[in-house]
Amino acid sequence: MTDARAPYVPPGTGWPDDPAAPDTPVAHGAGEVIELAAGAPDLAELCARQSVCRACDRLVEWREKVAVERRRAFANEEYWGRPIPGWGDPEPRILIVGLAPAAHGGNRTGRIFTGDRSGDWLFASLHRVGLASQATSVHAADGQRLIGARMAATVRCAPPDNKPTPLERTTCLPWLAREVEDVAGSVRCIVCLGGFAWQGVWPALKQAGYEVPRPRPKFGHAAEVELAPPPSAARRDPVLLLGCYHPSQQNTFTGRVTEDMLDAVFARARDYA
Ligand code: SF4
Repeated sequence: MTDARAPYVPPGTGWPDDPAAPDTPVAHGAGEVIELAAGAPDLAELCARQSVCRACDRLVEWREKVAVERRRAFANEEYWGRPIPGWGDPEPRILIVGLAPAAHGGNRTGRIFTGDRSGDWLFASLHRVGLASQATSVHAADGQRLIGARMAATVRCAPPDNKPTPLERTTCLPWLAREVEDVAGSVRCIVCLGGFAWQGVWPALKQAGYEVPRPRPKFGHAAEVELAPPPSAARRDPVLLLGCYHPSQQNTFTGRVTEDMLDAVFARARDYA
């Protein structure tokens, strides 16, 4: 393990569910993201490569600065400080897509939506509808498990102010596109958490071979679009894209998102899938 204020957890040093090893290839720029995403032999190696990426200078600097400085409440905790790879069932029926990890959530725990308020709401709902084994997701060794579901982000590193730049979104896109492609054989429903994830998933769907409508349908809570699957997918039945308001603190505090609203979307995803 690292010293008390290391900027990130070195790959393959015992962090729970660390998908990478010391020799996992590292992308240092947009071209290498494209190359390493396309060349990953399988989903596990894809996630390993996602988790060590250093392609975006601004985001690498930010995620590691946060990992060193830390929030006071977590001052004694080692921070992951690396990109957050896709996580969950390798052959999911439901894919849940978020925007980017939180600085003191995923960037601390190494697992998407784990250790922050949004994740508290999300996992509680997933548990109520039978898609998560536990109602909370606190740290990477807590035994939490998604049931027939998988989570991924459109941008894998925590951005300042939760706002990745357009260039950072484009640079990170090949990781998501390849992940979407790899799970297309089993996925029946894709849930987008928030308008940014909704916008970010379209180019990934297109790259993965889905037929994408033009103009793109508008985001809304419980918005639905049926998509024709990629020609390479064994199943020919449509895939449902579902919009869901993000369970951010702002949305949950103001009542824009309620437990019932989240449960309704995930129950719909479960029943469709
Ligand atoms: S945001 Fe994506 S492309 Fe940029 S450094 Fe993180 S993982 Fe790599």
